[in-house]
Amino acid sequence: VIQVYCKKMFNGEKETGTIIVHRDITKEFEVDQMKSEFVSTVSHELRTPLASVLGFTELLLHKELKPERKTKYLKTIFNEAQRLSALINDFLDIQRMESGKQTYDKKFINIVPILEKVIEHQQVQTLIHQIHLSIGAQQTRILGDKSRIEQVFGNLLNNAIKYSPKGGDIVVRIREDENSLKIDFKDEGLGIPNDAIPHLFEKFYRIDNTDHRHIGGTGLGLSIVSEIVKIHDGSISVDSELGKGSVFTLTFPKIILEDMKNSEKNVNI
Ligand code: ADP
Repeated sequence: VIQVYCKKMFNGEKETGTIIVHRDITKEFEVDQMKSEFVSTVSHELRTPLASVLGFTELLLHKELKPERKTKYLKTIFNEAQRLSALINDFLDIQRMESGKQTYDKKFINIVPILEKVIEHQQVQTLIHQIHLSIGAQQTRILGDKSRIEQVFGNLLNNAIKYSPKGGDIVVRIREDENSLKIDFKDEGLGIPNDAIPHLFEKFYRIDNTDHRHIGGTGLGLSIVSEIVKIHDGSISVDSELGKGSVFTLTFPKIILEDMKNSEKNVNI
């Protein structure tokens, strides 16, 4: 996008020349566009659950309802309010991370108990999935911010459940190679079309096919994940087959035991 500034020069009445300045404002234009896209998506995403909350509350207030119906509506209100709260947290996270205001409290942390906790929490939310943890590494520590790493695991597991609407096994596998610690999140769900894979970690990107479309989400989860992973000098990759399932793999630098011993025990660094 080019902005053109044009000024005619005069000497008395006589035109002596023209100054033309071309300025490339593509970056500013893109930032503006991203901001307004963000605002419109945010308001759209917030409006839907909010409309449900308002609608069902109104019904409860103004209609004589059977107790079972009341309970059903209250459950809907509760779920939608929960969704609203998750959305607001996602928006705030992204905003904090992008403005560089997010702080990270990095320590040597063992990922096994963190994964166990996240799995336990997610397992109770579903009856049709079975989540398994397989540990194939000797050293299972990374240098990380515990609550942010927990958020990464939670998002990936939650997606594995959400995008496997028919259920199935979900396997979380920890493995290692010479320099890195890897964690796979494998599901037997919808899978991801090849042309979508390069866009998965973009903000607000959601796969727009019939299977995925009706599953709720903001398209922010994976961009939050990739942002956090980057801060931990790690990476994330995806391998998927449409209709069969997906594997999301996190890779973190392996901790050198000497480093851990030399640093004062679990001090913030
Ligand atoms: P959200 O789930 O809120 O839409 P995400 O950023 O977490 O946003 O994911 C982006 C998109 O990637 C999702 O809309 C979904 O289409 C796809 N996706 C993510 N995880 C999986 C998975 N395990 N299986 C299939 N598709 C997935």
